[in-house]
Amino acid sequence: MGLAPLPEGVSFEGATPHQVVIIGSGPAGYTAALYAARANLNPVVYTGLEPGGQLTTTTDVENYPGYVDGVLGPEMMEHFKAQAERFGADVRFGIVSHLDLSERPFRLVVDEEEPLLAETVIVATGATARYLGLENEKRLLGRGVSACATCDGAFFRGVDLAIVGGGDTAMEESLFLTRFAKKVWLIHRREALRASRIMQQRVFDNDKIQIIWDTIVTDVLGRDEVERVRLRNVKTGAERDLAVKGLFVAIGHDPNTGLFKSWLEMDDLGYIKTMPDSTRTNIQGVFACGDAQDHTYRQAVTAAGTGCMAAIDAERFLASV
Ligand code: NDP
Repeated sequence: MGLAPLPEGVSFEGATPHQVVIIGSGPAGYTAALYAARANLNPVVYTGLEPGGQLTTTTDVENYPGYVDGVLGPEMMEHFKAQAERFGADVRFGIVSHLDLSERPFRLVVDEEEPLLAETVIVATGATARYLGLENEKRLLGRGVSACATCDGAFFRGVDLAIVGGGDTAMEESLFLTRFAKKVWLIHRREALRASRIMQQRVFDNDKIQIIWDTIVTDVLGRDEVERVRLRNVKTGAERDLAVKGLFVAIGHDPNTGLFKSWLEMDDLGYIKTMPDSTRTNIQGVFACGDAQDHTYRQAVTAAGTGCMAAIDAERFLASV
């Protein structure tokens, strides 16, 4: 394995190792922090670029146990953070940019320059939205192309929009977009949705949403802003343009695990491999939880569950060495 070197000039001399360093601040990271803090391990959490993780780009969360009337995603993540901090978790805004996991204490570098030593590392870096990979999609990103309806939906009042995808995210986001848009075209590459039945039904029942089946987006057209999307029916090959002011992409996510590629074993999709019934990775003292290692469930509650497991695994590991 080719190991990326640490940046020159960063010295670890005199640094005191933290017992637990948690990388990532979604439900997994904060739950790991809560449990590690309550175990008196004084965890440090590095939030990454998006403190709170993907849930901060969601609206209503209706399926997190305990919130009878639902809760807003960003608000829920504030609750997670506050609860971890109440027991002494040290939450810091920063990005772990480099690491060396060859021996303990592990050597980490934050924001390219700050040295950090860790007896254990909990990886909770989550996942990031996927795009279609079209040239014009990239060019028009932020000018009508978006992967976050919650963030950008309100900019599109009274206009027609397109959204791509057939999973729960696409359902949730298309429903959300109907609050603003005149019409929402839901474009799906197959003839059946992948989303849960309850979400499908909500979409079917919404008069503002019209589904275009068996169809892919082959181009996004517009000079400075999105004006049209080009569609191709995958069964007939027929092409046509659809006039829309925005294109929302909701086709799944990729795990944020690039930083660990040289060190941790991963599956073909880049999800970190963990031992059966545990959050242990191939390196002793390094644990992985949440969407960075789970491509099956990917729920806030399962991420929180594995975050709890990671903290307990780290605690037991520290007690055993
Ligand atoms: P999914 O992987 O479930 O769905 C992705 C969708 O995008 C699929 O319909 C897929 O098509 C389509 N797709 C993938 N790649 C392309 C492409 N290149 N071009 C066109 N279409 C493409 O991702 P989601 O983000 O929707 O959901 C992830 C997980 O999070 C799921 O487990 C989901 O249940 C959960 N979730 C739950 C919510 C809730 O309960 N409130 C809300 C949001 C997500 P195909 O079906 O053909 O593969």
